[in-house]
Amino acid sequence: MYKVLSLPRAIVLGLGPVGYEGALMLSKQFSVTGIEHGDKDVRSFKSFNFALSERFLRLAEALQISNSDLPDSAPMYGRAIHPVDSTSAIKTVDYTPDKRRALLSVHRQALNAVLAQKAEKAGVELVYNQDIVSVGFDDKGAINQLWFKDKPEPVVVSPDTFVLVADGANSVVRKCLLQRSSQVDTTVKFPYAYREYAIPADVVKTMPEAFLRSLNSFHIWPKVDFMGGEFFVNALPCAAGGLNICLQGTNDVLKQLKASDIRSLFETHYKDIAPYMKFEEQHHYPLGHFYSRVYSNETITGPNFVLVGDALHPMFPFLGIGVNVGSEDIYILMQALDVLRGKGQSPTSEKGAEFLRQVFKDRILDTDTAVTGSTGNSKNIGGEKQSPEQDAKRWEMLLYLERYSKFFKNPHTMYSFCSSDEIPLREIPWREAYQNKVVDRLIEADFLGKPLSVQREVILTLDSEYAAELARWRDDPSHTPILKSVFMRG
Ligand SMILES: Cc1cc2nc3c(=O)[nH]c(=O)nc-3n(C[C@H](O)[C@H](O)[C@H](O)COP(=O)(O)OP(=O)(O)OC[C@H]3O[C@@H](n4cnc5c(N)ncnc54)[C@H](O)[C@@H]3O)c2cc1C
Repeated sequence: MYKVLSLPRAIVLGLGPVGYEGALMLSKQFSVTGIEHGDKDVRSFKSFNFALSERFLRLAEALQISNSDLPDSAPMYGRAIHPVDSTSAIKTVDYTPDKRRALLSVHRQALNAVLAQKAEKAGVELVYNQDIVSVGFDDKGAINQLWFKDKPEPVVVSPDTFVLVADGANSVVRKCLLQRSSQVDTTVKFPYAYREYAIPADVVKTMPEAFLRSLNSFHIWPKVDFMGGEFFVNALPCAAGGLNICLQGTNDVLKQLKASDIRSLFETHYKDIAPYMKFEEQHHYPLGHFYSRVYSNETITGPNFVLVGDALHPMFPFLGIGVNVGSEDIYILMQALDVLRGKGQSPTSEKGAEFLRQVFKDRILDTDTAVTGSTGNSKNIGGEKQSPEQDAKRWEMLLYLERYSKFFKNPHTMYSFCSSDEIPLREIPWREAYQNKVVDRLIEADFLGKPLSVQREVILTLDSEYAAELARWRDDPSHTPILKSVFMRG
């Protein structure tokens, strides 16, 4: 047996899901060290569960992580939209007409543990409890120093070490990059925070039949006003049969709320789950913040680094996007590194870095659309306050369109299901604009008041218009999804 002594080096900054995936991917070609400020056992425990889509599964397959390696998951086939009061029914909308396809709700810590184990097994050195406070750059813009909390001297990084920056939405490295460029940091702190609650499996079993029928869904309750703040609730099913409830709300108000206030919030506005929740003895999490993205084409790659995951595109949570789009970053990087390897080029060579710059410049465009889509999505699914008649009607109309998709030859997926792998990220704004146009036309034509046969005709006409417009849009080469465009050019 020969031992390879001199693999090129790579460093991964931040070990959330995307950092672990990146470390595992890089271990094929580099001697990798992953650095994380959290504790080994905490492993970026931001929330109980999150939703994985095929964007993640495609990467897992490429990294040879089999389904049996992954933690148990609960499938979510669509959305379950709960009424503000308990009088009307839960509305469900499938993500796709194909029942075999679902988003998978998995336990975040369990997934991170699997990824960490895989990375360790592949020889990645994992270093915990190291808080990066700053990075230094050489005159060409390569990262050449890592500064750690309580350490007087920096760790020196050579220009041929590849640095994968995956330190999340509040990225220290991104801040340092922005400071040295002429760009303005446009990060916006959303004034929201969240707390999570668990309903165990044996309690879920006692819930009404109507609830249990829609259990395998992403559950959404509308936005409401309470004690001077705005609140809304989501829930994900768990593999073991329980339900994770996430209450989001205005940060300043939420942090003041006592268990009794939260009980009263649920009993007033979220009546269908209130009786099953234990507000006092809660597993609850420190308040978190949401961030908007930073638009920075110049600062996402450099002579020896690339930003990925939330460090590159902070994502609005709860829409099944962040981890999945971050995994897609790693998938794209993996292909880009393969192209470079085929040409005998290192990612830290001048040509290699330029190639990665091109790839990730397009990535900004794609993930930008995902963020915009997610935000619009959040409004449509009940994030907007329920009361304005027009909004409720609009949502009703979208449900109708989705339900009538059985009339379509090739049923299309709503733009707001942008976590779905079927929708290339760059197509999301087009779909959003198209759907808005359609809904306006339907409202104007009093669609809901027309007989079924007329509705059917209207839907079929709109569908053929849709197919033709989408085909025209896709034919424009500037709209080709990145996976095709860059690598065809590359
Ligand atoms: C409540 C909640 C629910 C969510 N649900 C979903 C969902 O269902 N589906 C989905 O796809 N996405 C979801 N998201 C979004 C998702 O969590 C993020 O998009 C995802 O975690 C991004 O992964 P990442 O590895 O890029 O960043 P992170 O998970 O944030 O990991 C970054 C890592 O870097 C470490 N780090 C940060 N700063 C430093 C430093 N200075 N020094 C050293 N280490 C550092 C952190 O400790 C962390 O481990 C949710 C988010 C929240 C908050």
